Amino acid sequence: MEHIGSVRAVSGPVVRGKAAGPVRMYEVAYVGDAQLMGEVVRIRGDEVDIQVYENTDGVTVGERVLFSGGLLTVRLGPGLLGKVLDGIGRPLATLGEKGVFIPRGEHLESISSRESFPFMPRVNAGDAAEPGDCIGEVQEGAGTHPIHIPPRVKPGEVRWIAPQAELGVTETVVTVDDTSLSLSTTWPVREPRPAAERLHLQTPLVTGQRVIDTLFPVAKGGAAVVPGSFGTGKTVTQQSLAKWCDADIIVYIGCGERGNEMTEVLEEFPELEDPHTGRSLMERMVLIANTSNMPVAAREASIYLGMTIAEYFRDLGRDVAIMADSTSRWAEALREIAGRMEEMPGEEGYPAYLGSRLAQYYERAGRVRCLGSPEREGSITVINAVSPPGGDFSEPVTQASLRLSGAFWALDKSLAQQRHFPSINWRSSYSLFEEDLRGYYDHNMESGWREQKSFLRTTLNREKELLDLVQLVGRDGLSESDKWVLHLSELLRSIFLQQNAFEMSDAYCSPRKQQLWLSFFMELHRTVEHRIGEGLLFEQVPAGEMRREFLRFRELDAARLESVSANWLEEFRQQLQETEVIPS
Ligand code: ADP
Ligand code: MG
Repeated sequence: MEHIGSVRAVSGPVVRGKAAGPVRMYEVAYVGDAQLMGEVVRIRGDEVDIQVYENTDGVTVGERVLFSGGLLTVRLGPGLLGKVLDGIGRPLATLGEKGVFIPRGEHLESISSRESFPFMPRVNAGDAAEPGDCIGEVQEGAGTHPIHIPPRVKPGEVRWIAPQAELGVTETVVTVDDTSLSLSTTWPVREPRPAAERLHLQTPLVTGQRVIDTLFPVAKGGAAVVPGSFGTGKTVTQQSLAKWCDADIIVYIGCGERGNEMTEVLEEFPELEDPHTGRSLMERMVLIANTSNMPVAAREASIYLGMTIAEYFRDLGRDVAIMADSTSRWAEALREIAGRMEEMPGEEGYPAYLGSRLAQYYERAGRVRCLGSPEREGSITVINAVSPPGGDFSEPVTQASLRLSGAFWALDKSLAQQRHFPSINWRSSYSLFEEDLRGYYDHNMESGWREQKSFLRTTLNREKELLDLVQLVGRDGLSESDKWVLHLSELLRSIFLQQNAFEMSDAYCSPRKQQLWLSFFMELHRTVEHRIGEGLLFEQVPAGEMRREFLRFRELDAARLESVSANWLEEFRQQLQETEVIPS
């Protein structure tokens, strides 16, 4: 119920107000004469704390507060794709002339009612309709965008359906009993959108990043965290995934990082070609920009806004990947607001509800059977960056994120310093999805995938042991076979695990190519091991040129790699065979 109250105190982004009627948690309030939008975050009697999404400078005690009675919602529908929104869902691009900032107190919806799309009906008057049912579709960009009955609409009968025509996004498209619905709908950002059923995870999100796909895969519907200190590659990793992963839709949240990083995204992404369709990548993206110079409270809301948009596309039956960069900046916003409200600080000053608030985000990831018909499945995969101060992974935000996710891609400062990118540490990272994905790999990869991956793991682990041993006995003290394994693991690290995001030919590596490459390394290993077993010395193996030669493989597509590597191996075998064993 809408009513007017007043401002009692202002503390940065938090305004204490006095309510004159009933108020509920998270209801939207418009603060001060400037009508700054905010959300109620604490209620004590008639005293209400409001986190305000815009700069509160100039708001003074006694000004009015309009309690709206409604929750913070976002408009969902055709027109979202390609948009750049701020943390509370206002479009930034349409205000390009005024700069990235929206004037204070300007209330805009994510999709403007002026936008229209060619609609094609798929039901008839008299048909039954319930939430999730498809009633038609619109043309959007290169694709079609199905229109479904939103959740919570009472099931009933189609009384009227729009004919094939260009329709505004808020015009009536269908009437179900007495309810008029349009192409777009609104949804409160803090409430998960319902689905018919949660499903097991079973398909990997293919990222084209070798170290991720082979060693630490994330399942579609799962969550991965990317923790790393400054400069270790969090942003580059997330952007590579945004470009290359096989999700249908990308929601990218620039959350509290420096403005220029987001500007880069805003400039670069529209230029990028979608490798899967050849069209602009932005056509399957929604960007949410809430950089460090923008109001801190909106940052808190931005991840839920992004998640609600992700759920909308999931409900259309799409696979969605949502990235937030970074969770740490989000948590800092939470901490600042809690501090302003003089709440009891928990670990490192973060409020005690840090973990549960973060869970409200992560729990919305998953793979589901959608409501309604036609029968369809959708998924949301979370990929969140965390920037722990000093790279200390034991701090609360990293720990909370780790508990909520199944894949942990630990970025390593010293690897980054050596320019080993992606700097994902193969010892401290992990994925809990292997088991879920086993069936997928058995069906979709050539045989041997399990052995090939285990070969990679074993070699990398063996390297660690051997390096410890070298500390004691020196390299010369190693057996011939161990000398070779050290050489091999160095090749695997520098050629297979490293991948330059900025080198067009290598930025994406298909699963097929990853497998061929690993299988090549395994064959190579067998060949050398065999000859060493027959008495060949490591120094007799022509290993010096390998690195240079194998680096060229990066430029080849899978088919070329297969033939080139087979030829190479053939010649190498022969050469090795012809090298005579020196009698001891
Ligand atoms: P963070 O977001 O963790 O602060 P960035 O993602 O901005 O770090 O990465 C810092 C720099 O590291 C980049 O500008 C780039 O030079 C390098 N880098 C990171 N990842 C890669 C990669 N996969 N390939 C090549 N260079 C990378
Ligand atoms: Mg960054």
